[in-house]
Amino acid sequence: MTQTPTRPQTGTLVEQFEFGLDAPICLTWELTYACNLECAHCLSSSGRRDPRELTTEQCKAVIDELERMQVFYVNIGGGEPTIRPDFWELLEYATAHHVGVKFSTNGVRITPDRAAFLAASDYIDVQISLDGATAEVNDYVRGPGSFDTAIRALENLQAAGFKDAKISVVCTRHNIDQLDEFKAIADRYGATLRLTRLRPSGRGADVWDELHPRPEQQRVLYDWLMAHGDRVLTGDSFFHLAAFGESLPGLNLCGAGRVVCLIDPVGDVYACPFAIHDNFLAGNVLTDGGFQRVWQTSDLFADLRSPQTGGACSTCSFYDSCRGGCMAAKFFTGLPLDGPDPECVQGYAADALAGERQPPAPSQDHSKANPTRRQPVMLTLATSRPSAPPVSACAESPLAGFVPSQP
Ligand code: SF4
Ligand code: SF4
Repeated sequence: MTQTPTRPQTGTLVEQFEFGLDAPICLTWELTYACNLECAHCLSSSGRRDPRELTTEQCKAVIDELERMQVFYVNIGGGEPTIRPDFWELLEYATAHHVGVKFSTNGVRITPDRAAFLAASDYIDVQISLDGATAEVNDYVRGPGSFDTAIRALENLQAAGFKDAKISVVCTRHNIDQLDEFKAIADRYGATLRLTRLRPSGRGADVWDELHPRPEQQRVLYDWLMAHGDRVLTGDSFFHLAAFGESLPGLNLCGAGRVVCLIDPVGDVYACPFAIHDNFLAGNVLTDGGFQRVWQTSDLFADLRSPQTGGACSTCSFYDSCRGGCMAAKFFTGLPLDGPDPECVQGYAADALAGERQPPAPSQDHSKANPTRRQPVMLTLATSRPSAPPVSACAESPLAGFVPSQP
C-alpha cells in the first residue's frame, strides 16, 4: 500500500486538510439504491435495490466502527433510504451509539407519526430534496407528484415541531431564477436552504448538458450567494465560483478522499458521493478489513492526499481559491483531472468542452428497467424560463467538528 503523507501540524486548515484526516468529517452513506422516484439527474443512478445490500447487522457493525473512529455524524442517503425496512432501526442504533444522522429524503415516508418521532431526537437532521420552487420545475426532473410529496413532508415536520429541517436544491438552469422563491419556502417552514451543484455523475451525466446552469447564470448564482450566503448552506459545491472574485464561505478545496468519502449500499468506499466509478473506488468495508482500514490505508486515498500540482490551472490567478474546481465534474465530462473545471467561470474549459471528449462509461447503473413514474420526466417544460449535537455537518460547513492543530 502507498504510504499516506503525514499531515502537517501547522498551517491553514486547507493546508492540513490536503493531507487528509484520521476520520472523514463529511461521510455520506447510501443505504440503498432503491427509490420510489427515478430523478433524471440522480448522482447514483438509483431506482432498483442491489441484492447485495448490506444487512442490518452489517450496517450496525459499520456504525460501531464509526463510533470507535469518533465520526460524529453521517449523511445518509440513497436511493430513498426510508424505503429500507430497517431504516428507522438503524437511525436509532446510530444515535444511541453517538453517531448523529442527517438523512436525505424525497419525503415519501415523512408521515405525521414519523415527523413526531424525528422531532423527539436532538441527533437527527432531515434534508428534503426539492429541485424547483414550483411543481412544474421540480417535477420536470424529479417526477410527477414529487413536489407535493416534499411539501407535505415539510408540513408534517413543522406541525410536529421539528426544528430547522433542510431543503436541498440541486441548482439547474431551470431553477436559478427561483432562488428567492426557494428561500421563501424555507422561511415558511422554518427550514434552512441548502444549495448544491449539479454534477455530471450517475444519470446526471446524461442530462448535464441540458441542465447545468449557463455561464451567465453562474454569475447570478454567485451574486445571490454573496448577498444571502450567510443564511444558506452550500458545503463545497461552489468554490469554483470564487474565480469571479471573492471566495464564498466554505472549503475551497476538493475534499475527496481527504475529508470526504462515500460508503455505498454494498459497502464499497468511494472518494466522494459524486465519484461513484471504479476509478475512485478505495475498497470495501466487508472485504478490505473495515471502513477505518480503507480510509486510512487505501492507495487511492493516499494518492489523493499527495500534493497536487494544479496542472494547467496552476498559472491561473484564481487557483488559490478555485483550485481547478471539482474532480468529479471534470472526470464525468471527460476533461483532464489536472485541467480546468467544466464550469470554469473564466471560460478556460470552453474549448475543451467543445472539442473531442470521451466521457467515461458509468461503471454501475441501478435505473429501473420499467420506470415507475406515471410518465417519464424531462419531456416538456411549458414555461418561459430559460431552457456535541453531532448534526451540524459539512453540508453546512466542511470544517464542522474539526479542531485544528495548534502551531
Ligand atoms: S470531487 Fe467534486 S464533489 Fe467530490 S469532493 Fe471533490 S469537489 Fe466535492
Ligand atoms: S483556470 Fe482553473 S483555477 Fe482558474 S478559474 Fe478556471 S478552473 Fe479555476
